[in-house]
Amino acid sequence: MNTTDYLASILNQVAQRNAGEPEFHQAVHEILECLGPVLTRRPEFVEASILERLVEPERQIFFRVPWVDDKGKVHVNRGFRIQFNSAIGPYKGGLRFHPSVNAGILKFLAFEQIFKNSLTSLPMGGGKGGSDFDSKGKSDNEVMSFCQSFMTELSKHIGANSDVPAGDIGVGAREIGYLFGQYKRLRNEFTGVLTGKSLNWGGSLIRPEATGYGSVYFAVEMLATRGESIDGKRCVVSGSGNVAQYTAEKLIQLGAVPLTFSDSHGTIYDPAGIDKEKLDFVMHLKNVRRGRIKEYADRFKAEYREGATPWEVPCDCAFPSATQNELDGGDAKKLLAGGCKLISEGANMPSTPEAVEIFQAAKILYGPGKAANAGGVATSGLEMSQNSMRLNWSREEVDARLLEIMRNIHRNCSETAELYGAPGNYVVGANIAGFTKVAESMLEQGVV
Ligand code: NDP
Repeated sequence: MNTTDYLASILNQVAQRNAGEPEFHQAVHEILECLGPVLTRRPEFVEASILERLVEPERQIFFRVPWVDDKGKVHVNRGFRIQFNSAIGPYKGGLRFHPSVNAGILKFLAFEQIFKNSLTSLPMGGGKGGSDFDSKGKSDNEVMSFCQSFMTELSKHIGANSDVPAGDIGVGAREIGYLFGQYKRLRNEFTGVLTGKSLNWGGSLIRPEATGYGSVYFAVEMLATRGESIDGKRCVVSGSGNVAQYTAEKLIQLGAVPLTFSDSHGTIYDPAGIDKEKLDFVMHLKNVRRGRIKEYADRFKAEYREGATPWEVPCDCAFPSATQNELDGGDAKKLLAGGCKLISEGANMPSTPEAVEIFQAAKILYGPGKAANAGGVATSGLEMSQNSMRLNWSREEVDARLLEIMRNIHRNCSETAELYGAPGNYVVGANIAGFTKVAESMLEQGVV
């Protein structure tokens, strides 16, 4: 069988075995379509059935999460942990709490995580987990009740040397606190079993900032290849959660001008630019009051676009930082028409395959999530190192390491793309570089 037919057969098998999981199929397709030239050079990967093994999670854990609300009513959610691949280290990847969560979405995220973690050069395997729990409108007490029930089961399957979850959509500092507290109570051990912890009890400086900062550092590196800087660039940012907030913060620090934020209800557009004071308002609104982004427009002179995304706002650079498939082919055309020359993905798989094709055909700078947002998990890796050594690095030290890691990822992606005859194509570079290290490790460890 030639390589094209072989890859098609794997995709076909994935579609059949994982029916009704389109995001997972999309993520596998996106990786596999880059791997033809690698398999031609490295036939031993085919002989050892590396791909067949890679697309099947090592372990999937599904469980019931019963919890009691403030009125005494019992609710039941679903809990998941996908332990996808441990070839290069303990499973590592966030927990997502959102009503849309299902096995297919978590499998796509865990699959992406394998290659992202490989790119960071730190020893971390790929995993992801979460629940269809919706924290919107819930009291702190209800969120705690849910988190304690979720961890009661999850604690049986994770550990500082086996699987180390972190935050993701709907799981921030509050949730990590409740989850960690319950783990400690159940296991009677104080270990680095979660990352994204508070500074008072084992967290790392810069971890909250890391994904957003890293996505901007990656953009800076991409711009440098064209002799440009980020200073003065007009930028659109989607989302208004953790990644969006710290993307905006780093953009402001580097002299760029963020223009937008969004949430699942709509987008705010501030033509005067979002400065530090306005960003502080958003952080308080989202992290403390847990309100809607529309309030920004009520407070400052800005436009609110109900139900809209930020992609029709003219800009130099775009930072999708909300969720998967939030930017489709039509949006990609609008961005290009508005002058956009760079996309750096803070979110996981935010651009649809059609959008990616349009960016690549236009030859603009396009940094895929698994490279551009790897700063978050990389800094989680640094948190794990600090926990093992029982010491804390300074803010400057962690930030310097993050910057260095993002530069290395950029260099690795660029050089790999060049080596495989696709200079400037960060999709090819990230997928092949991430894959090769994992595939070699699997080969060396035998059939497991
Ligand atoms: P948060 O929960 O802090 O924020 C998510 C933001 O995206 C919110 O503004 C939310 O709006 C919006 N959003 C979520 N789902 C949808 C949807 N279906 N449609 C429209 N808007 C939506 O999450 P994070 O900032 O942590 O994560 C954002 C993205 O970054 C995700 O793709 C995540 O996987 C990725 N990522 C996160 C990392 C991290 O370290 N946190 C690391 C690497 C990637 P609303 O409040 O209305 O729901």
